Amino acid sequence: MARAGASVLIVEAAHANAGASGQNAGSLHFQIERRFLEQGEAKAAEAAAITTLSRMAVDDWRGLEQALGADLHVHMHGGLMVAETAAEVALLERKAARERAAGLSAELVDGAELRRIAPYLSERVVAANHMADEGHADPRAVTPAFLAAARAAGATLAEQTRVTAIARAPGGFAVTLTGAGAGTVRAGQLLIAAGIWSAGVGALVNVHLPLFPVALQMNVTERVSPFLPHLIQHVGRRLSMKQAHAGNVLIGGGWPSRMAAAADGRFDLTRRPELLAPSLAGNLAVATAVVPHVAGLNLIRSWTGTTAITADQYPLVGAVPCVPGLFVAAGGSAFTLGPTFARLIAAQMGGGSAAAEAEAALAIAAPARFDHLNSFMGG
Ligand SMILES: Cc1cc2nc3c(=O)[nH]c(=O)nc-3n(C[C@H](O)[C@H](O)[C@H](O)COP(=O)(O)OP(=O)(O)OC[C@H]3O[C@@H](n4cnc5c(N)ncnc54)[C@H](O)[C@@H]3O)c2cc1C
Repeated sequence: MARAGASVLIVEAAHANAGASGQNAGSLHFQIERRFLEQGEAKAAEAAAITTLSRMAVDDWRGLEQALGADLHVHMHGGLMVAETAAEVALLERKAARERAAGLSAELVDGAELRRIAPYLSERVVAANHMADEGHADPRAVTPAFLAAARAAGATLAEQTRVTAIARAPGGFAVTLTGAGAGTVRAGQLLIAAGIWSAGVGALVNVHLPLFPVALQMNVTERVSPFLPHLIQHVGRRLSMKQAHAGNVLIGGGWPSRMAAAADGRFDLTRRPELLAPSLAGNLAVATAVVPHVAGLNLIRSWTGTTAITADQYPLVGAVPCVPGLFVAAGGSAFTLGPTFARLIAAQMGGGSAAAEAEAALAIAAPARFDHLNSFMGG
């Protein structure tokens, strides 16, 4: 938006990358996610619409280091979603057909070809869906690079500054800030992009943004020589695995940790979730079953982080219909899709002919689908 000439203030309650963007697994996964497949064929068919965004994200990530002028350790050497049973292979086949129909490079590989591409896979793996563009990038590098580019284009960053009140004002909003950048600012448009805290910021404008916090955990091994060039996922079990640029193997895949409960009966989003031992054991068991080499590596760290999902699990990105000038970008796999969300929401907020195109691309994520929740709100 700053590059397009808008006057932009980025308000950050803590510091850059304090939230999920600095805690995630760094996977660039463009295959239809397992969480959509496990809900049956109808959901899998519906979720195929997300591939419109995935296809754009492939191109966005291919050009991101150049666009931001930074090394983000982007590795896009391919991803394999593996299957161990005949039923899982059938699921992969249906998924790959949907992806190919959407213009993604999905290819089912098995037998000698699979062993040639991925000799590190266990014999239990009978087939995999190969997508050439998948990979990973460094979450610790991406947000700072976006911020540096935004500031270079004229955006102002107010860190240690929290949005604590939002009032409607002529031509837009009056936003109260507390902390280092305390004061009141006027804005014609407002984008709520506060991750799991977005629903709370929405409450300041008297609207429901139906996002739910979900606590996950991740693991990382010691550094070892390169042996794993691909992003690994599993179609039937929770797994994501990749070898980061420094040689560490990151192991995750959506295993839950436990959020703290607050005295008022809600989840306490100010505290780090608690690591769960059964998740840790379960995650590592799947990892070693699929890639036996990791069984011999030392685990050096496990951590927890919280991300946001909606009731239908699609992201929430676009205009909030009941409050003109209000936009939201939260939820979904927003490391993989984040650069695309950023580009599209900037175009949508910028108006003109590009706005309609961006809105169409974001159709699956449109906040309008939950507008019924705001039929008594927004005043
Ligand atoms: C363990 C884990 C693994 C994941 N793995 C992947 C993956 O491999 N690939 C993928 O695509 N996605 C992954 N995700 C999801 C991804 O990390 C998130 O979708 C994404 O980072 C969300 O970015 P965000 O900017 O919306 O939120 P965040 O990064 O959480 O940022 C929100 C920011 O808002 C600030 N804030 C909050 N309240 C206020 C306020 N009132 N005023 C001002 N600022 C405020 C916070 O300080 C915070 O910095 C993972 C998530 C987790 C937790």
